[in-house]
Amino acid sequence: MTEKNEVWVFIEQEDGRIADVSLELLSKARELAEGLGGTVCGLLLGHQVGDLTTTGFQYGADLVLLADHPELARYRTLPYARVITDLARQRQPTIFLLGATPVGRDLAPRVASALRAGLTADCTGLQLGDFQQKGKTYHNLLYQIRPAFGGNIIATIVNPETRPQMATVREGVMRLGEPDPARHGEVVQVEPRFEPADLAVKVLERQTWPPLCDLKNASIIVAGGAGVGSKENFELIRELARVLGGEVAGSRAAVDAGFVGPEHQVGQTGVTVRPRLYIACGISGAVQHRAGMDQSGTIVAINTDPQAPIFDIAHYKIVGDLNEVIPQMIHAYRENAK
Ligand code: FAD
Repeated sequence: MTEKNEVWVFIEQEDGRIADVSLELLSKARELAEGLGGTVCGLLLGHQVGDLTTTGFQYGADLVLLADHPELARYRTLPYARVITDLARQRQPTIFLLGATPVGRDLAPRVASALRAGLTADCTGLQLGDFQQKGKTYHNLLYQIRPAFGGNIIATIVNPETRPQMATVREGVMRLGEPDPARHGEVVQVEPRFEPADLAVKVLERQTWPPLCDLKNASIIVAGGAGVGSKENFELIRELARVLGGEVAGSRAAVDAGFVGPEHQVGQTGVTVRPRLYIACGISGAVQHRAGMDQSGTIVAINTDPQAPIFDIAHYKIVGDLNEVIPQMIHAYRENAK
């Protein structure tokens, strides 16, 4: 198999705005392409979206394959999958990364299955490495790293033979690089080719609403877990967040118990957060909750159990009942803020 070592990133856009995760993946792709001696190639599909190529270059693309067509104005599975599959057959990319957004989660398996390629969902790490199997050494494979078996192991998955090596990554997992306004690249216009069946689905109406909270970009987060005990008692968490000017979050157990809405969930199946200050109240600190949190600024944990795993990553460890500790914190903050 001859490889030009193109590292592809699906540049997901809606209404002319690129998803943050795509920019994060361009930064990661840059690193991988340098390791492979290859190029970063962005895939931009939509209608009248050519201006977005500039952002793609600034975040790390060397080349953008631009498919600009009225039928691509809104995401639909079949037309998007058709364009990308055709391009992948022509250009034989080595790696293909997509955001684990609703769109990416829909598109990636469709493309992987058409190309008979391997796909790992929700990777928490991507790096290059060698792999040996049956006396053969494969160099510079994509290590697709993610928790498996309920978070009990961290699995490293490789695709030795099939290309592209495909992975989806959730927003906030990869670090966003600094854009370089001086970076430019090449735009390759793509003429999409659709079969009639690709256009069978028509979008009759769209309803959108703004996100209820922005955990990913919050600099202060106050999170409550099962230890808060009840929906009513969660008001304590909200109060502390209000006083500190932060966002409210919850563990999955708190969400499952109905203490707080699912959009507030932090962790592997929630939002990956890296705030300046994270206050975990009545949260045990399971590995799924802590996913990606290790790069937060300061972590404060309040827990009655001195052995709680959250204390392993906490900078300030308060062993105590949150019902006593939080009111004291609020009082102290208000006193000092006077
Ligand atoms: P618990 O583990 O029950 O901990 C409650 C804590 O509160 C205990 O440590 C206890 O000592 C303390 N406590 C009790 N009373 C008080 C009090 N009065 N004052 C102070 N402390 C008190 N979890 C997530 O959070 N996010 C995810 O995205 C996520 N994804 C998952 C994905 C998979 C595939 C799986 C299998 C699990 C996932 N989980 C996730 C669940 C995770 O494994 C834990 O079950 C969950 O995080 C536990 O939530 P918790 O810490 O609030 O509850």
